Amino acid sequence: MSFQGVDFLQIDRMLSEEERMIRDETRTFVEREILPTIEGHFEAHTFPDALSKVLGEQGYLGSFLPEEYGGSGASYVAYGLVCQELERGDSGVRSFCSVQSSLVMLPIWKFGSEEQRRRWLPDMAKGRAIGCFGLTEPDFGSNPNGMLTRARRDGDHYVLNGTKRWITNADIADVSLVWAKDDQGQIGGFLIDRGTAGLEQVEIKRKYSLRASHTGELIMEDCRIPVANRLPNAVGLKAALQCLDSARYGISWGALGAAMACYETALSYAKERVQFSRPIAGYQMVQEKLVWMLTEISKGQLLSLHIGRLRDMAASHHTHVSMAKMNNVRIAIEIARTARELLGASGITAEYPIMRHVMNLESVLTYEGTENIHKLILGKEITGLAAFDN
Ligand SMILES: Cc1cc2nc3c(=O)[nH]c(=O)nc-3n(C[C@H](O)[C@H](O)[C@H](O)COP(=O)(O)OP(=O)(O)OC[C@H]3O[C@@H](n4cnc5c(N)ncnc54)[C@H](O)[C@@H]3O)c2cc1C
Repeated sequence: MSFQGVDFLQIDRMLSEEERMIRDETRTFVEREILPTIEGHFEAHTFPDALSKVLGEQGYLGSFLPEEYGGSGASYVAYGLVCQELERGDSGVRSFCSVQSSLVMLPIWKFGSEEQRRRWLPDMAKGRAIGCFGLTEPDFGSNPNGMLTRARRDGDHYVLNGTKRWITNADIADVSLVWAKDDQGQIGGFLIDRGTAGLEQVEIKRKYSLRASHTGELIMEDCRIPVANRLPNAVGLKAALQCLDSARYGISWGALGAAMACYETALSYAKERVQFSRPIAGYQMVQEKLVWMLTEISKGQLLSLHIGRLRDMAASHHTHVSMAKMNNVRIAIEIARTARELLGASGITAEYPIMRHVMNLESVLTYEGTENIHKLILGKEITGLAAFDN
């Protein structure tokens, strides 16, 4: 009998019973709620909006936060496994979970006032309120420190001006966490409610990647918010980067989920597809590709699991996360492209999930720090020399 599945190294044995249960429940949820409709949403360029509340009911949003704020105090490994399973479905769904959990709920919990926490976190955990994280600008992507968005103090208010672009959920967010420089040039986080005068939330269309995800722009023109809407403990760019660290960690697992879906599809196709009188899985060059995919998935799982355990011990460093994000997204996109190749012409159709994953992973490779940027972060760590400006 041949080996089935993707857990070649029996990594399951290294998970707790609770972690396995969460992973299995999420997998069943994805099979029932996401897979039947996701291809249609991808083609129609729509996010399944009703899903936000369902994801909340399932406990997937901000699961690592304390119960009093709507979380369940889940481990970081459990959070990673949820990301893996959601992205087995679609990167857009995992992106929704990452942004809500790591990029908006986490900073409100970590850097926010008690009033801000009470106001937003329980509703966000249930998916009743949606958040977005506005850091990137049209002219400042990899180098957010150069941002032009300003928050000018005016009595009891801040007045924000600037544009944030490529922001997941920008057009549907009930609360936008915008990073801006204050009068002292200090970067801070500012919460802007939907409907605030001077804030425009615009969707970006015609994407060929992450089509089942909202992406948009936040345009602020003399947008006036109370001083109480500033996150009191978010000081400098490092606060924003700490949130990205959590999201990047989840992405390292998520990308593996997409890779697993592609590998499993390619394996079962290769066993069925007969050319030259044999299933193509029986040819050496096809086996070489399948073995490479499974090996890289296994190595990626070990990397993410190890970093997850370190995070749960509060012992992981942001450069560890850079290594996992850089490695796992790169291998995921290569696995997805190889799987596409193994399906021949069938690989380009919507009958199989592979081409959708290939296209999605192009965004995952770019957002939350491009591959080059993670190489520079790691390069600085091991040489002590920064090859970039800040
Ligand atoms: C679908 C999607 C959703 C997104 N969601 C969000 C979000 O929710 N919030 C948010 O704030 N942002 C979001 N982003 C933006 C994303 O984080 C940026 O696109 C990313 O940081 C890269 O910035 P850029 O696109 O401006 O590329 P650039 O920074 O212009 O980079 C272009 C190329 O130059 C390379 N490069 C840049 N500097 C260097 C260097 N010093 N050395 C070597 N190479 C370099 C890069 O690696 C890249 O290959 C999203 C992007 C996408 C595609």
